Amino acid sequence: MNEFTPRTIIEPFRVRSVEPIHFTTADERREALEAAGFNPFQLRAEDVLIDLLTDSGTGAMSSRQWAGMMASDESYAGAASFYRFEAAVRDITGFKHVIPTHQGRAAEHILFGTLAKKGNVVLNNTHFDTTRAHVEHTGAEARDLLIPEGRDPKSPHPFKGNMDLVALESAIREIGAHRVPAILITVTNNSGGGQPVSMANIRGVSTIARKHGIPFFIDACRFAENAWFIRTREEGYAGKLPIDIAREMFALADGCTMSAKKDGMANIGGFLALNNDALATRCRNLEILTEGFPTYGGMAGYDLEAIAHGLYEALQPEYLEYRIGSIAYLGRKLTDAGIPIIEPTGGHAVYLDAGGIAPHIPPLEYPAWSVNNALYLTGGVRGVEIGTVMFGLQPDGTEKPASRELVRLAFPRRVYTQSHVDYLAEVIIEACSRAADLTGYRIVSESPVLRHFTARLEPIT
Ligand SMILES: *Cc1c(COP(=O)(O)O)cnc(C)c1O
Repeated sequence: MNEFTPRTIIEPFRVRSVEPIHFTTADERREALEAAGFNPFQLRAEDVLIDLLTDSGTGAMSSRQWAGMMASDESYAGAASFYRFEAAVRDITGFKHVIPTHQGRAAEHILFGTLAKKGNVVLNNTHFDTTRAHVEHTGAEARDLLIPEGRDPKSPHPFKGNMDLVALESAIREIGAHRVPAILITVTNNSGGGQPVSMANIRGVSTIARKHGIPFFIDACRFAENAWFIRTREEGYAGKLPIDIAREMFALADGCTMSAKKDGMANIGGFLALNNDALATRCRNLEILTEGFPTYGGMAGYDLEAIAHGLYEALQPEYLEYRIGSIAYLGRKLTDAGIPIIEPTGGHAVYLDAGGIAPHIPPLEYPAWSVNNALYLTGGVRGVEIGTVMFGLQPDGTEKPASRELVRLAFPRRVYTQSHVDYLAEVIIEACSRAADLTGYRIVSESPVLRHFTARLEPIT
């Protein structure tokens, strides 16, 4: 008998502990948003029905992870939980030295604090904002070298996170290899829409880095999602297991930084892993100063256990098919309804093109902010504006429109089901059908840096 091939991708788990979500009326949402200064960051999470603010640390853990946490070893030094964590990281990445940190940015702090200084330039496909901040904190420059297709929301390129290899070669020639302390590649490219990087591109970067004797690090936060895209989109990888693809990726690099709040499937944690002995010693010295003893590095033993299991769970094919499938499923429903999004959909989020949804709102009246607030008012959905409120304020206090007006809907891992996604599509389509009635916003008060977190706004009537 032929094997039955179902069309429906189901959640590859059953639910054994539930957390109620809170329903509100339209009046309650209007009141809550007004009290929050029309800033979704200031809402109480309890007033949100479907929370897509971020996929960072918001995932659900498995029964295996919880069991590991109960059996953790909380010894200050040399805990069994550390050795389980180290074995898992080594098994998957192949890197010799594993340095635990309390989250991804702490790994960046230690790496760049050890490696970079004023006059240096760090090269990356796209620096994530904390990565850029840590590079710049050392006085070095953070330069992005993404392929041009990566910036085009309609380009169908299968690997829109790829590094521009020609630009990389010429940047190294122009800067001088001795002033480039590291080349990074961010998989998937978070700031660029969760777009993947191909194995061929990682190999290309690795070859160039080795030719010039420059250390090559992977910003690995979504390494498992990237492995899935390689398997489904790159020739020669169709039958390969995600874990083997991940191992092949890491073998091309000298080390990685990782936020375990992403593909570590944990609520907190991270690590720095690398091969170079001398560099590892210097990193551990800085770690003791800022994170703690090198066998816990800012985490509890139970966090180390959760990550040790989580890294493997993130690589399970059934999980990745469901995860990437959920994002694509929402993307398809929206494009079928004529709603503009970044295409093709990436690994962890759907990005609405608010500039296309509400073209009547000028950039300095924050169209993406307005569309995001409309999602909340319509159906209790919280996303995040990636537009002029987030990026428009210049260091000299003036304001400039952001290059794009996006609303990011990031999916927590293993938290929502297909009916949640169906509901989401309904809310988005309903809110967009009334987009012509949306008004812009003005900022009433703001802080001089990272204003989007705390700004208070009001609708322009
Ligand atoms: C989240 C993230 C980081 C930082 O990790 P935290 O755990 O939030 O400190 C770095 N790089 C990328 C690509 C990320 O997505």
